[in-house]
Amino acid sequence: MNWDGKIAADEQLGVGAGASLVSRLSSLLDHQKRTWPLLAQGYESLSRGEMRPVEMDGTRVFVQHNPGRVRSTGAAVDIASVEARPCFLCPANLPPEEKGIEYGDGHVILCNPFPVLDRHLSIVCKEHAPQQIAGNLPLLLELAHDLSPDYFVLYNGPECGASAPDHFHLQACSRSIFPLEAALATGDAPPVPHCDMCEETVANYFELFTINDSGRSAIVFRAGNWTALAAWMKKTLDQLGSHAGKEEPPVNIIATYDQAIWTVFMFPRKRHRPGCFYAEGEEKILVSPGAIDMAGVLVAPERDHFLKLDADLIRRIYSEVSLDEGEVNGVLETVCSE
Ligand SMILES: [Zn+2]
Repeated sequence: MNWDGKIAADEQLGVGAGASLVSRLSSLLDHQKRTWPLLAQGYESLSRGEMRPVEMDGTRVFVQHNPGRVRSTGAAVDIASVEARPCFLCPANLPPEEKGIEYGDGHVILCNPFPVLDRHLSIVCKEHAPQQIAGNLPLLLELAHDLSPDYFVLYNGPECGASAPDHFHLQACSRSIFPLEAALATGDAPPVPHCDMCEETVANYFELFTINDSGRSAIVFRAGNWTALAAWMKKTLDQLGSHAGKEEPPVNIIATYDQAIWTVFMFPRKRHRPGCFYAEGEEKILVSPGAIDMAGVLVAPERDHFLKLDADLIRRIYSEVSLDEGEVNGVLETVCSE
């Protein structure tokens, strides 16, 4: 797998060798918007797209009309279709203008040409390896840390919104719109490190709870110690896997890092796509929820579908694709009693 020629040099980006990852990424985005017309078009389309809030059960979901997402939302991700197309995350198939920056030895960060939110990035494995969370939890948490506090980092499982289930990737987006996180801010806040003594309190801090909202279930982990956090996440994923009868359970995961605390939202899924995705005629709504949709920005590439999405329909979509509250609680009881 040859990535030579796909990595933007610091001189090209106009950044010094000591620049932070976040500032290098901001230069990469500027550079790519200037040199890669497809990306400029993607951001143009995002800025023209409509977004409207829908008040749900005490929280808010934003519905986004984003015509640029039509291919990703409708993407065929069955094995035969995926095998029949060239992998769009392998370097040989990237558009000539597309460049990225290296993250560690094994990954490259690229700009997503079909952004859903501002600063939408793909963090791509240098090898053509399948989309799976096993072995990649440390990467997810490190990245959330290194991109903090401006970004959230997400994982879409191969049956839960990833349009490249054949090539491992994470994504990152600006954290300025993250409705479910905003809803959480009204609850008890985790401790903030002010001095040496409370730094230790923060480092040992751990909590695990669920959010059941508007038909969605999310398991929330908050921790100051990433070893403990990764171990609890792994135990939970293993248990969700046994519950689903699969090696990897269907999930979306979002991670943030702020004030020395990681917050992870895990959305256990029951189904990839809701019934309305497959319906015909008036009933058809082209939505295919991934992590961003589960977090409260529901993307509709078709305008008439966007206009139809109201609280009842959104609740139905979430409840059709989310694992039921009772099942999630049952799984967590087993995890916590181990
Ligand atoms: Zn590939």
